[in-house]
Amino acid sequence: MSTFGETLRRATSTLDGARRWIYVAYDQLHDAIGPLAEEPPEELGIVLIESRAKATRRRYHKQKLALVMTNMRHFALEQAERGVAVRYVDAGDGDYAATLRALHQELGAMRVMRPAELELRDELQPLLDDGVLEEVPHGGWLTTREDFAAIKGPPWRMDSFYRQVRKRTGVLMESGKPVGGKYSFDADNRERWDGDPPAPPLPTFEVDEVTQEVCELVERAFADHPGALRPEHLPATRDDAERLWAWALDECMVHFGPYEDAMSTKSTNLFHTRVSPLLNLHRLLPQRVVDDVLGAELPMNSKEGFVRQVLGWREFVRHVHEATDGFRDLDQNVLRGEVDLPPVFWGGKPSGLACLDRVVDDVWEEAYSHHITRLMILGNLGTLLGVSPRQLTDWFWVAYADAYDWVVEPNVLAMATYGVGELMTTKPYVAGSAYIAKMSDYCGSCAFHPKKTCPITRLYWDFLARNAERLDGNMRIAMPLRSLKKRSDEQRANDAEVGAWVREELAAGRELAPEGD
Ligand SMILES: Cc1cc2nc3c(=O)[nH]c(=O)nc-3n(C[C@H](O)[C@H](O)[C@H](O)COP(=O)(O)OP(=O)(O)OC[C@H]3O[C@@H](n4cnc5c(N)ncnc54)[C@H](O)[C@@H]3O)c2cc1C
Ligand code: SF4
Repeated sequence: MSTFGETLRRATSTLDGARRWIYVAYDQLHDAIGPLAEEPPEELGIVLIESRAKATRRRYHKQKLALVMTNMRHFALEQAERGVAVRYVDAGDGDYAATLRALHQELGAMRVMRPAELELRDELQPLLDDGVLEEVPHGGWLTTREDFAAIKGPPWRMDSFYRQVRKRTGVLMESGKPVGGKYSFDADNRERWDGDPPAPPLPTFEVDEVTQEVCELVERAFADHPGALRPEHLPATRDDAERLWAWALDECMVHFGPYEDAMSTKSTNLFHTRVSPLLNLHRLLPQRVVDDVLGAELPMNSKEGFVRQVLGWREFVRHVHEATDGFRDLDQNVLRGEVDLPPVFWGGKPSGLACLDRVVDDVWEEAYSHHITRLMILGNLGTLLGVSPRQLTDWFWVAYADAYDWVVEPNVLAMATYGVGELMTTKPYVAGSAYIAKMSDYCGSCAFHPKKTCPITRLYWDFLARNAERLDGNMRIAMPLRSLKKRSDEQRANDAEVGAWVREELAAGRELAPEGD
């Protein structure tokens, strides 16, 4: 028996008596939400399921698999310590539904908080229909369907949703008006960062026997999954989650606002908090992090900037995903991107574009990169190249530790690639090298020169030319389209030629170099 199995057996051996059972999904690991928060622990039992079928549905980054499993196992031990009975099931290649049906014979009907992932909701629906499971509300969200319905749509806009929620909750509001005179301080979130103030080093966590065992399991059973496994960077226990959040609040938050959009080779996260993997597992609760930030002494651009991300964007994308059934019945490729994802995204072989290579390396090393690198390097490059939005989305889904369908699909399909058009964003988030050179130090180590030889600017013009008709009438992109019209036929032909060359070289896994190198 594993050390975890033996420790759990010992911790639960004295827990007897009749129990009301709850199935706790892999991303609902908190006892301050749902029935675990409301009922006495000695009357409750929880079922947790590790499923290889789920873990191999995609080739998830090893760090993500380890993160989920070690948190589930530690949560099981923490609940046993509180007196909650625990059934921790290794379902092997079995899925959640079959495992729960089998348990139903013995434990009777179980409650489950409404799953966040559509994939899991779909799988469990027949069990809800048959009375094996009973759904109860998920207590971990900050906003309601009514908040979302109030903004009308589609199309939906995050700004309207955020305003609605600020007004309804009174967060950062004074006498019905936004604190500081405006709802968003976005314009104060765009400073470049050149190393000062220094970015805080990442916290590390004790690798206990449970985490060690999980890491060995991942290396053994998921050996063909990509990504580096870094056990010391796995927050695993409730205390680790607290420590990560204390680090974010004390070390990152004061500079979070001004440098939110900056990118650097010197730090993967700069002043970003890295809390998304734990927020999405509900190891940290969004209400708690928002409350702490509201109560802290912080500049307004940091305070409002963070609240906008968690109370605004995070909740908004979840509602859009649910309201559209994961975009299932929509055209998910409005710009007709049909290019296969180039092999450079899988790491190992550089593209010669220093910005892309750097972020790809970061992701395979850490299962993380911050928002602007996701949007303006990976998403931007994918969109400019005309990569299939579905392929890019699926890549993000396996590569990042915080990726689940409800959050990765809106962010990639809808926001980064404009795959579903104007449904939740007003324009494609595309840019040439000027933006990257302004907001990062990547160009300093690149064989290309951002103003002279960088192919990304050519790709940008080529993208606009290829999509001019589809984007015609979109006021947010009207200015670049007007500039496109001023480009000579020769320039346009050159843009298309460079675009074709980049696509061909990247598809073949060859490294790009400036002419003459
Ligand atoms: C192409 C692309 C893919 C993304 N994929 C994911 C994903 O799979 N999972 C995920 O959680 N986030 C995703 N995001 C949103 C965002 O990039 C990450 O939440 C953030 O980078 C996480 O790092 P952090 O905790 O250091 O964030 P911080 O910058 O410190 O922000 C604080 C928190 O705000 C929330 N947040 C901010 N923006 C968003 C957003 N657009 N959607 C949802 N939550 C947001 C997150 O919970 C984050 O932890 C994606 C964004 C883009 C552009
Ligand atoms: S020069 Fe171009 S390719 Fe190189 S890092 Fe800068 S933006 Fe990226």
